Amino acid sequence: MIREARPIKTQLAIIGTGLGGLAAGIFAKDMGINTAQIGHTGAITFTTGYFDLLGSLMDKQFADPWKGLAVLKKQLPKHPLANISQDDIHKALNLFNKNINKMGIGYCEPGNSNIQALLPSGVCKPTISVPLTMLAGVKAKESQAPTLIIDFKGLQGFSAIEFVTNLKSLWPSLKAERLPFPNMDSGQQIFAEVMAQALEVPNNRQRLADVIKPLLGNAEYLGLPAILGIHKPDLVHGHMEELLGIKVFEIPTMPPSVPGMRLRELFEQMFADNSFILIPQHKVEKIELNNDGAKLCFTDPFGDVEISSQATILATGRFLSGGLKAEQHGIFETLLNIPVTQPDGRDNWYQEKYFDPRGHKINQAGVEVDINFRPLNAKGEPINHRLFAAGTILAHQDWVRQRCGAGVSISTAYQAVKCAANILI
Ligand SMILES: Cc1cc2nc3c(=O)[nH]c(=O)nc-3n(C[C@H](O)[C@H](O)[C@H](O)COP(=O)(O)OP(=O)(O)OC[C@H]3O[C@@H](n4cnc5c(N)ncnc54)[C@H](O)[C@@H]3O)c2cc1C
Repeated sequence: MIREARPIKTQLAIIGTGLGGLAAGIFAKDMGINTAQIGHTGAITFTTGYFDLLGSLMDKQFADPWKGLAVLKKQLPKHPLANISQDDIHKALNLFNKNINKMGIGYCEPGNSNIQALLPSGVCKPTISVPLTMLAGVKAKESQAPTLIIDFKGLQGFSAIEFVTNLKSLWPSLKAERLPFPNMDSGQQIFAEVMAQALEVPNNRQRLADVIKPLLGNAEYLGLPAILGIHKPDLVHGHMEELLGIKVFEIPTMPPSVPGMRLRELFEQMFADNSFILIPQHKVEKIELNNDGAKLCFTDPFGDVEISSQATILATGRFLSGGLKAEQHGIFETLLNIPVTQPDGRDNWYQEKYFDPRGHKINQAGVEVDINFRPLNAKGEPINHRLFAAGTILAHQDWVRQRCGAGVSISTAYQAVKCAANILI
């Protein structure tokens, strides 16, 4: 029997639903482009929820990421952020934030300087925008206000004692307490996402506030792991502040993280409409490029699907999400076998010292693009004039060390969508 594929025709196809894909989807929708997007879970569920623009280069940390970008342009001219104007980076970050806020998760506006945001182990990192549920933590630390940090029996990935111990010398009025989480106090392991779902029920928030209240003492702030709901974190956060009568802030946990899940869920719930088809939990299995665009093929429980697109954006991420694959003889791009810029041989993937300030060369491996964000073949020519790439699959950036994950993903997605829009009918 011949199986007929279900056809989908679209102007733009976006491959990947990570931060780069999500941003590309938002920009495409904003520009009124008819879009189909397909992707599985990826690195986004591991993020802290902070949007980093540029935190450091070599060992130098930047209080002002915009000044940092000027340094980056000189020192690393091939870095994806070095080839985008600051004006466009600004526009991309602002448009992305505006849309995320409108869709239902509050983020503070990206400003002129980096925020020192709290990490689960009690250290800080420079970032440009944080969820509103986390913002009070930055202020509490700056003012060294009396603050209670709590964690929960059975929750892995966040320890109030570790957090307080590591920050105590800078923030002497910090205190730690461990509590049982209401109705999850059997002593077994408990999970942040399950607690977050439980806190979407107002009665559970009341029960939690009842156990926290007697411990507050003179605290002006309460810090707790990121568990304040999945779908309406700002509402849950506001209610907890009301119940406790003090400022409350979330601290990211170790991955997988609730703030990353929130972004993904938000996208899945808010995006699909007549002009936007979102196919979550699937991966493109085959792609054929031609003069008119591309054919993307995959199979879902109802059979084969074929998406025909005039333009395609590849935002498949790096190793964790499956956009790149490291094998015995090298690093490969998984969907189209696009040449990957990489160190010369496995021996050169890593520096000898883990904390070498130059970073590990493997972390800069990726796909080369031209000024229009079109991936290049071995001769340095665009593989297809209708294929674009965005996000951390791009070469010459080390988002871990440079603290530029969201900055690279969002800004390159903005450029890729703008370039794709130019060739659409
Ligand atoms: C532990 C951790 C913590 C982080 N913390 C931060 C942070 O605090 N701040 C920050 O700015 N950044 C952070 N990042 C980095 C951030 O997650 C990445 O910069 C960002 O997610 C990259 O986005 P991306 O879209 O390029 O790739 P990814 O998010 O990796 O997404 C790639 C997508 O492509 C999909 N895909 C792959 N192959 C296919 C295929 N064949 N067909 C369809 N889809 C496919 C995957 O399913 C996935 O949806 C963190 C990352 C990790 C791992």
